[in-house]
Amino acid sequence: MAATMVCVSTETLVLRYASHSTLGVAAISLLVPAAYLCASQAIRLSMGAGVTSRRLVAIAAVLTGLSLVLLAVDAVPFVQCLPFQLAGVVMFLDAVLALARQKRRGVLGNGLLVLCCCSMTGIAIRIPMFPLLLGQPTPFPIMSAETFERVFVNSLGVLTTGLALFIIARIVANEMASYRYRSERDDLTGLLNRRMLGGMLDRPAATAGAVVMCDIDRFKTINDRFGHHVGDEVIQSFAAILKGHAGHVGRVGGEEFALLLFGASSQEAGETADAIRCRFQQFQHPAVGEAGTLSASFGVAAFDTGASVRSAMRQADKALYAAKRTGRNRVCIAPDEATVRRGMQHAA
Ligand code: GH3
Ligand code: MG
Ligand code: MG
Repeated sequence: MAATMVCVSTETLVLRYASHSTLGVAAISLLVPAAYLCASQAIRLSMGAGVTSRRLVAIAAVLTGLSLVLLAVDAVPFVQCLPFQLAGVVMFLDAVLALARQKRRGVLGNGLLVLCCCSMTGIAIRIPMFPLLLGQPTPFPIMSAETFERVFVNSLGVLTTGLALFIIARIVANEMASYRYRSERDDLTGLLNRRMLGGMLDRPAATAGAVVMCDIDRFKTINDRFGHHVGDEVIQSFAAILKGHAGHVGRVGGEEFALLLFGASSQEAGETADAIRCRFQQFQHPAVGEAGTLSASFGVAAFDTGASVRSAMRQADKALYAAKRTGRNRVCIAPDEATVRRGMQHAA
C-alpha cells in the first residue's frame, strides 16, 4: 500500500510538472500500472487471497512495455496511453474478482469492492474519453489541462486514500480476529481451550443438554513407546474425530477433552460418545500400528435448563473415572440428579 502511495504521489507530480516531456510520459506509463499492481496486491493480501499469478503480472508488464514502444515510435498520445491504462484495468479487475469471489466480505470487503469498481471504471474510461471530448490527436499538455483530467486525477487521489484506509482497517480487523481466535483455541488441536470452555461452563445453561468428558486410554504408554510427536499426532487425530460431531468441543487437559451438547439427552450424548469411541478404536496411526491399539474412555452427564454446566462436567468426570476403573474403552453415563436424590433418600 505504501508503494501504491509512492507511485500515485509521484504520478501526480509528474502529471503536474512534466507531462509534456517524453521522460514524463515514460514515467507515467510505468507509474500508473505499477500503482495499480501494488494496490491490487495490497487488496488481495489484506483479504488473505495471496498475490496475483505471475501470468497476470506478465500481461501487465507486456502492456506497459508496449506503451513504452509506442512512445518511442512517437504514436499519438491516445494510442500510447491505451496499453498501460489497460494494464491498470487488468490489475484492478483481478482485485475486483478476488473480492467478488469472497463469501463473507463484511462491510469493509463490500466497501473495498465498491472503491475498486469505481477505480477500475475510472481508469477504463479515462483515456477513451479524450478523443470523444477533444477529437484526435490530442497532445499531452492539452490532455492534462482538461477539466475532465483534473477531476479524474483528484477523484483518483480521493479513491486511493479511501482504498488505503479500507485496506488498513481490514488488516487491523483481520489481526484482531486472528488474535481473538488464537486466544480462544488450543494450539495443537484448534479446539476451544480450557479458558474459553470455562467461560461457557460458568453461565447457567440456556437450554438443557449433556456434557461428555473424554480421555485417551494409557496415553503415557503411547508417548513412552512411540515418542512425544506420535503422541501429539494421536491427540490431533482424536480431536479431528471430535470435530466431526456437533456441539462445542474443547481440550481441557493433555489427552482430555470435553464435548458440550446442548439439546441432547444423556442417552443421545452417550450414543454420540460411543460413536466417537468406535471411530477412535478403528483409527490406525502409521507409527502405532493396527486398529484397536488406541482407545478412549468417556463419561456423560446431563444438565437441565438454568442448571450449572460446570457441576454436570464434574459428574461427567466422575463417570469417566468409573469408565477407567471398570476396564477403559467404554462410555459411562452419570445417574441424573433425580436418581441421585432418590438414592440418597433411600440410604437415609
Ligand atoms: P489413563 O488410561 O488412566 O488415562 O492413563 P494415561 O496414561 O492416559 O494417563 P496419564 O495421566 O497417566 O498420562 C497422560 C500423559 O499425557 C502424561 C503426559 O506426559 C501426556 N501429555 C500431556 N499433554 C501432552 C501433549 O500435549 N502431547 C503429548 N504427546 N503428551 C501429552
Ligand atoms: Mg488418559
Ligand atoms: Mg488424563
